[in-house]
Amino acid sequence: MKATVACFEQNYNSVIFAQNKSMAEIRNNWTREEVAAIFNTPVMALLYRAAQVHHAYQTTGEVQVCTLLSVKTGGCPEDCAYCPQAARYHTDVEAHKLLEYDEVITKALIAKENGSTRFCMGAAWRNIRDNKDFDAVLEMVKGVASLDLEVCCTLGMLTEEQAKKLKEAGLYAYNHNLDTGENFYEEIITTRKYEDRLHTIEHVQNAEISVCSGGIIGLGETDNDRIDMLHTLATLKQHPESVPVNALVAVKGTPLENMQRVSVWEMIRMIATARILMPKAMVRLSAGRNEMSIEEQALCFMAGANSIFAGEKLLTTPNPDFDEDKKMFELLGLKPREAYKADKLTGVLIEP
Ligand code: SF4
Repeated sequence: MKATVACFEQNYNSVIFAQNKSMAEIRNNWTREEVAAIFNTPVMALLYRAAQVHHAYQTTGEVQVCTLLSVKTGGCPEDCAYCPQAARYHTDVEAHKLLEYDEVITKALIAKENGSTRFCMGAAWRNIRDNKDFDAVLEMVKGVASLDLEVCCTLGMLTEEQAKKLKEAGLYAYNHNLDTGENFYEEIITTRKYEDRLHTIEHVQNAEISVCSGGIIGLGETDNDRIDMLHTLATLKQHPESVPVNALVAVKGTPLENMQRVSVWEMIRMIATARILMPKAMVRLSAGRNEMSIEEQALCFMAGANSIFAGEKLLTTPNPDFDEDKKMFELLGLKPREAYKADKLTGVLIEP
C-alpha cells in the first residue's frame, strides 16, 4: 500500500512540476496517465491546484449565466439511457413539436432580462435534417443572435454543410456532449457510436463554431470511464470552448431511474480536473445543480466552474430559478460574465 501511495505521489508531483514549468501553456497532448494522476489527487490538493489554474486563466468570481430552452421536446428515436425524451421510454415528458419563432424570441428576451448572456436551444433530434424545421431553427438563431446573446444549439448530429449554415445564421456555439468514456458508451447508448460524436464535433470545429462538449456522471460508470472522457476532451485538436459537467438527474421511466445521486465530491473532482486540463474552457456546472446547496455550489466554483444554467427547467428536468440564483450571486459576491467576452479579449468578434 505504501508503495502505491509513493508511486501516486511521484506521478502527481511530476505532473505538477511539468505544469508549473509551463503554466502559460495550453496542452492537447495529455497522456492518459497524467489525466489519471490529476483526477486521483486527494480532493483538497486537487481543489487548491484547480483554483490556482482558475486564477491564472479566468476572472475569479465571474460566472456566466446561460439559459437552455427545449425548442422541440420528446419523441427522439435515440436510446440514451438517461434521457426522458427518448420515445421508447415511458416518462412524464410531454412531447411537443418545434416551438414558434415568436415564443422562442420571447423566452430569449426573458432570459436576457434575468441576466443570461448565452441562450441555448435544444431539439430532441437524432440528427439535423435539411427540412423546414431546420430552416425555422436557422431563423431562430438569427433572431437570438440579434439580441446580443451568445447563441448555442444542441440539435444532434450534423454535417459540415449544416454547421456552416448555422454559422452563417450567427450561431456562436454548438453543444454535443461525449456523455461518458468511450469504453462505457455502448452501455448507455446503442443507437450511435462514440466516433459519430467525435465526427460531429469535428464538423462544428471545421465550421469555426465553438464547441460545447462535456458529459454526465452517475450513469453507473467507473472512475476510469470518467478519466477516459476527460482525456478525450483534453486531447481534441482544440479544447472545447465550453465543458458542461452534469450529474445524472434520474427520471422515472428511464432505464437509469434507480441510480443513486452522485456526491458533490465527485462533481468537484470532475470540475477541477477539467479546469486543470483545459484552463481556458468555460466549465459549466450543469444538470443536478437543483439538488445542491449554495455551499456545495461554492465549492464547485472554487474548483473552477464558471458557468451555470438558470431558469426553472434544464430542457425537461428541474433547475433553480432566476431569483434563487440572484441570491446566491449576492451571497458569494459573484459577478455575471458578459456576452462574447472571449472574443472581446482576443479581438475576434462574431458578427450576428
Ligand atoms: S439525449 Fe438527445 S439524442 Fe439522446 S434520447 Fe435524449 S434527446 Fe435523443
